[in-house]
Amino acid sequence: MLIGAHVSPAGGLYKAIGRGAERGCEAIQIFNQSPRMWRPTAYGEDDFAAFRDAIKPSPIKAVLIHAVYLLNCASDDPEIRDKSVTSLIQSLRIGAEIGAAGVVLHPGSAKQGDVGEAIARAGAVIKEALAESERCPLHLEDTAGAGGTLGRSFAELAALLGAAGGGARLGVCLDSCHLLASGYDIRTPQGLRETIDEFDRELGLKRLGSLHLNDSQTPLGSNRDRHANVGQGELGEHGCAAFLSEPRFEKLPLVIETQGPKGDGPSAEEVQLCFKLRKRGQAARQRGAGAARTRARRSKSG
Ligand SMILES: [Zn+2]
Ligand SMILES: [Zn+2]
Repeated sequence: MLIGAHVSPAGGLYKAIGRGAERGCEAIQIFNQSPRMWRPTAYGEDDFAAFRDAIKPSPIKAVLIHAVYLLNCASDDPEIRDKSVTSLIQSLRIGAEIGAAGVVLHPGSAKQGDVGEAIARAGAVIKEALAESERCPLHLEDTAGAGGTLGRSFAELAALLGAAGGGARLGVCLDSCHLLASGYDIRTPQGLRETIDEFDRELGLKRLGSLHLNDSQTPLGSNRDRHANVGQGELGEHGCAAFLSEPRFEKLPLVIETQGPKGDGPSAEEVQLCFKLRKRGQAARQRGAGAARTRARRSKSG
């Protein structure tokens, strides 16, 4: 697992790498433009070259790009649809230039409308954006399930991937806060295991491309997207340790998207806490496996 944080590329795309390294990250996530404005940041070849030069000697081994929040690929408003497809293509092209592990996208919202039709519209937009770009994978993120947001369940994510053509560049980003809020009880290693078993049945494990670790301010099934700092929400340190040590997450980049202790984003201490909790989670799993072996031996001999 490559652990890291969402960081800002303010002042130059390459500056995100320094901010990640300062925080002890192995993976970073950035927005490719201001997340609340449609206007794209005009990055050019120099920016991409500076980024590639800076990342090579750095400890950062994986980069994710988060598409901006304004996108709604499922919109039935032609203007929003066009802006969404343009912006998504832009994200994917930048992702290809900087060798991103993926562009993470909230699949969209049906608003008050029919969910099936919204999935079909989102699928068409995503398909178009993939056709207009090369290489960079696209990870649809599971959502907390607020309002008409799409991607609240693995079945819905599977339908979205299908509507988008099901190609090899399509994957999924799982967010721990959104999983809990949408009703997946991932507070224990056992609950998480069953959840990922279900993911494997619905989507296939090879679709899992990236992870967001956020604790949740609101309880299981609340359908509200309120990130808490790592270990300080409904998952707690125990739940976060389970997420960080799940064996099937081993090869994936994981970033935190928290407010941080000062409200200005993830801190170095929080990233270090993730490494610590990962070790703790792994040790607990080993103890659990050891205890299970002992029980098995006893029941055989008894
Ligand atoms: Zn997320
Ligand atoms: Zn969220």
